[in-house]
Amino acid sequence: MEMFLTFVKLGGKKVEVGKIVCLLRSYRAHAEEMGSSAPEKPEFFLKPRTAIIHDGGEVVIPRDSSDVHHEVELAVIIGKGGARIPVEKAMDHVQGYAVMLDMTARDLQARAKKAGKPWAAAKGFDTSAPISDAVPVSQVTDPRNLEIWLKVNGRDRQRSNTSMMIYSVAEIISHVSGIMSLEPGDIIATGTPEGISQVVSGDTIEAGIGGIGTIRVRVR
Ligand code: MG
Repeated sequence: MEMFLTFVKLGGKKVEVGKIVCLLRSYRAHAEEMGSSAPEKPEFFLKPRTAIIHDGGEVVIPRDSSDVHHEVELAVIIGKGGARIPVEKAMDHVQGYAVMLDMTARDLQARAKKAGKPWAAAKGFDTSAPISDAVPVSQVTDPRNLEIWLKVNGRDRQRSNTSMMIYSVAEIISHVSGIMSLEPGDIIATGTPEGISQVVSGDTIEAGIGGIGTIRVRVR
């Protein structure tokens, strides 16, 4: 039986992760590169916590895919749980931030989209959620003004700023918690900027968010 890393490190403690909520098309330029437009309201899907790997880990390309893409995202670590959280109170529910990679089997996703089928296999495979150590919320003055970047084998692939995000962290928390309750340890990955691209076996992915941290993983 495989041992999964279902926690994220925050300061000196391990926070057990619950569900992983992932926003989609929350940066306009990425929505456009996907041949789409930004949704009217935040839209999201879920990844299982068994998808988590840590810095220094390996992303394993799923058997059925030959086109895995990287997406670097600001991850919000929920502290206090709640349902139907108003926007004005939403930031009281955040305990930290981390860098997360929403690894995506783009070929499986394209097939699922076309057939009107769910994205679970394309988005939820083992190792599809590399996450950095988290920093406490007190360390981040403005989550909406952070440099966000990703390199493959040392070459720039994604570089943007969280100011380009369509929704604020508070708006996202309020919206998601209006549909499904949030619990301590839940993670919300807030979507990726433009510049997604394919990775192949042997590649090294390095990504970071200013003031939060970096993560480096290999692709197998
Ligand atoms: Mg994503």
